[in-house]
Amino acid sequence: MLAALFVVGLLMASSSSWSQAATGSLNVHWNEGAKDCKANPQAPIEVHAYNPQTFILRENLCATFEAPFMYLLIGSTKALLIDTGDVTDPERMPLAKTVMNLLPGAEPSKLPLLVVHTHRHLDHRAGDGQFAHLSNVQMIGWDLDSVRRYYNFADWPNGLAQINLGDRTIDVIPTPGHNATHVVFYDRNTALLFSGDFLMPGRLLIDDADANLASSKRVAAFVKDRPVSYVLGGHIEFDSAAKTFAWESQYHPHEHALADVEGRSARSAVGCQQLQRLLHRKRQVYPGQFDSHPHRHGCYCRCGAGCGRAGADCVHSPPQARPLKGQAPR
Ligand SMILES: [Zn+2]
Ligand SMILES: [Zn+2]
Repeated sequence: MLAALFVVGLLMASSSSWSQAATGSLNVHWNEGAKDCKANPQAPIEVHAYNPQTFILRENLCATFEAPFMYLLIGSTKALLIDTGDVTDPERMPLAKTVMNLLPGAEPSKLPLLVVHTHRHLDHRAGDGQFAHLSNVQMIGWDLDSVRRYYNFADWPNGLAQINLGDRTIDVIPTPGHNATHVVFYDRNTALLFSGDFLMPGRLLIDDADANLASSKRVAAFVKDRPVSYVLGGHIEFDSAAKTFAWESQYHPHEHALADVEGRSARSAVGCQQLQRLLHRKRQVYPGQFDSHPHRHGCYCRCGAGCGRAGADCVHSPPQARPLKGQAPR
């Protein structure tokens, strides 16, 4: 009886810590792009309000096959934009305009904006220039030195940093692996984990397997004692059956959800990391021509719908599956 009471007490304690996280909605159907983008013009950017202080922005598939997600978090003294997407031209992609319109306050006393990146790949920072001339906007550099310096990581990739938005604190977790500069953000207010290309319903491309394994362990340890409402990544490359869309496809019918609703718990995030660990232990890596460093290894893994479940798998990717655009490291 005592034991039963103890269990009930534990359950209540855990549910009350869950209830502290500000809730929101992921009830959104993202634009699926088009088979023929010329014949079917699309709005360049979509905005979904997760809640009144949290916005999910996505570049349209017809504007860029990467269709990256960006996140805008509003605090009481500052707002935070995570990533600036894959399109530079403000005529084609009015990102800064869209973001500034979402910020509370009227010009010239808009809420100050801090712009950060999950990592240096061009599809997450091509829109940086749109913010360069705006007052009250601080942009953090995307190279490793800038990232370490700004967050004051003395022992990168160990340690945590915080961003203070007033009444809203964001934890920053170094997660090199996909790319050497990668970080993951955790919003204590909503318990959302913004995972960039480290974890998403799509191809998990890993530039440095050992670093990624260590990052996976760090994230797993981080989420162990914290609630995670959803894990929100940088792209969706799966359909609803967790099959990968063709590389560079601009048409995503029946696209997988951004965050697996069943995968909303911390447990599932840990499961996904465990999956990655397993993959690394098996060394399912092979020479990769799908990243910027031809002599390194890349691993092409699927970790989305199957995240944390037995059906999740890692598949071998033909090198041609990742022909990059010949850009600077992305
Ligand atoms: Zn990337
Ligand atoms: Zn990306």
